[in-house]
Amino acid sequence: MSTSYDLIVIGGGPGGYVAAIRAAQLGLSVACVEKRATLGGTCLNIGCIPSKALLSSSEKFTEAEHALAAHGVKVSGVKLDLPTMMAHKDTVVADNTKGVDFLFKKNKIERFIGTGRIAAPGKVEVTPDKGETQTLDAKAILIATGSDSMPLPGIEIDEERIVTSTGALTLSQVPKHLVVVGAGAIGLEMGSVWGRLGAKVTVVEFLDCITPGMDGEIAKHFQRILKKQGFEFRLGTKVTGAEKLKTKIKLTVEPAAGGDEETLDCDVVLVAIGRRPYTEGLGLEALGVETDNRGFITIDAHYQTNVEGVFAIGDCVPGPMLAHKAEDEGVACAEIIAGETGHVNYDVIPSIVYTWPEVASVGQTEEQLKDAGIDYKVGKFPFSANGRARAANDTDGFVKLLADAATDQVLGAHILGPDAGTLIHEIVVGMEFGAAAEDIARTCHGHPTLSEAIKEAALAVGDRTIHI
Ligand SMILES: Cc1cc2nc3c(=O)[nH]c(=O)nc-3n(C[C@H](O)[C@H](O)[C@H](O)COP(=O)(O)OP(=O)(O)OC[C@H]3O[C@@H](n4cnc5c(N)ncnc54)[C@H](O)[C@@H]3O)c2cc1C
Repeated sequence: MSTSYDLIVIGGGPGGYVAAIRAAQLGLSVACVEKRATLGGTCLNIGCIPSKALLSSSEKFTEAEHALAAHGVKVSGVKLDLPTMMAHKDTVVADNTKGVDFLFKKNKIERFIGTGRIAAPGKVEVTPDKGETQTLDAKAILIATGSDSMPLPGIEIDEERIVTSTGALTLSQVPKHLVVVGAGAIGLEMGSVWGRLGAKVTVVEFLDCITPGMDGEIAKHFQRILKKQGFEFRLGTKVTGAEKLKTKIKLTVEPAAGGDEETLDCDVVLVAIGRRPYTEGLGLEALGVETDNRGFITIDAHYQTNVEGVFAIGDCVPGPMLAHKAEDEGVACAEIIAGETGHVNYDVIPSIVYTWPEVASVGQTEEQLKDAGIDYKVGKFPFSANGRARAANDTDGFVKLLADAATDQVLGAHILGPDAGTLIHEIVVGMEFGAAAEDIARTCHGHPTLSEAIKEAALAVGDRTIHI
């Protein structure tokens, strides 16, 4: 096996493995150093993929319990088989991570299992769990070491009763009462899973809204729908401590603005207050690689750090902590290293919450447009007026399109509704091509589809919706 490469990627998550594949496609010799036994990083092992497997399975359970009867499908004796649900999730994860192994072999990427440390520009040390450290040489090094869960001061994680998302993906029984700390995407998704399976779910959030950063109107409607599903929200509230007793956990909370303390009794606490960049053990300080005050690696427009030949992408650099952002950066960075011109359009990165209904957004929110003093028009269309949504009995939510008042260019889109995460991509492509609301409104949409709600919202921008 060679020890000298054009590119060494440290981290085999969606940023790192995609960069490795793209660089290999462009003719570079590539190695990837990953300390986990399986490839795919957070996303495939303990993130996007296992959470979506549990979301899909729990959705089917709820449908069988509550939604099929309205379609004339009578199901009785619906029972949860949690071990099978978990086994399905594990199979999905294994199939996906093995898929990356296959892609590495196909693209002749060499894989090293161990912790990577940059000893000097062009030199990566790999230390396996057992065995000797080995030094590899590279013309370029790409750091793609991702992120981990943000700790909550005073709360000790045991991944059994006080868990991060990782523990929430492997609970061996349905908690009676789950308290989720943090009303972001991960907390609401995992809360949905366990809520559907029978847990009482209370969400404690420091801010006075859920899903901070989301378009305010959408977030309000979203919260209302989640409440109807049984979620309880304690907004403007902070967690100050947790006492683990034999049969329960006593969580201490108090108003974020100050006030009297109270306790919440529960059996599982999920701490989901965000993620932080992970760069431990890489030797960044000794190498002189700059990081910002939150620990993100500082990069230039070409993903290069302040040390020549050392690049960084994905969750360990600033920007939305999303798998598709990491992947696109991986492609762009590999292309730049190979002497081509790679580029990511950061204005058009979709973000999706995979609850039911889903919430999907791209571009600017109404609040951002107001803050920027941009004159805009709004077009909205509810799924309750969409034939396909009615047929499926899935009428919660609406499409909201924001367009420049003068040019009609689409500036943002926010969808709360069935399959919003799939629907949003019509707008993503449109925005990439600089579409006006008129372009979307005049594009023929298949009938009957959920996508027609987008066309109607685009028509609504010009006050000429047909079906409402
Ligand atoms: C529960 C959960 C659900 C999520 N759902 C979604 C979703 O639906 N959609 C979405 O877009 N995003 C989602 N995310 C976020 C997504 O997982 C991350 O944005 C994405 O994985 C970032 O990719 P990355 O390649 O930058 O880093 P990671 O995926 O974190 O990969 C980094 C890899 O580097 C390895 N590593 C670290 N240091 C070293 C070292 N020194 N040597 C060798 N290896 C090292 C780590 O073991 C890891 O495998 C979710 C995250 C979580 C936790």
